[in-house]
Amino acid sequence: MDTVCRRCLLKDMTDSEYYKGVYDYIQNLPREERAEQEIYEERLSKCRGCDSLINGMCGLCGCFVEVRALKRRNHCARSEEIW
Ligand code: SF4
Repeated sequence: MDTVCRRCLLKDMTDSEYYKGVYDYIQNLPREERAEQEIYEERLSKCRGCDSLINGMCGLCGCFVEVRALKRRNHCARSEEIW
């Protein structure tokens, strides 16, 4: 079975293990915690156009924006008025 250590630091993982862990987290986030798909896509669109986006991460908070935007209760790290 192909599993990723849940207690490893980034430096202990290969790049593929690391990204697999992030996408597994996205896939497995409970429905009640997830933003609606349309809202999620809208948020990501705004992140894509933002100067703070760096390699998939928000430069203000350090989150992966695909994770941050997925959570219903979250908002943009700069301002709730952005998303
Ligand atoms: S969360 Fe906000 S500040 Fe961060 S990259 Fe997305 S739009 Fe930009």
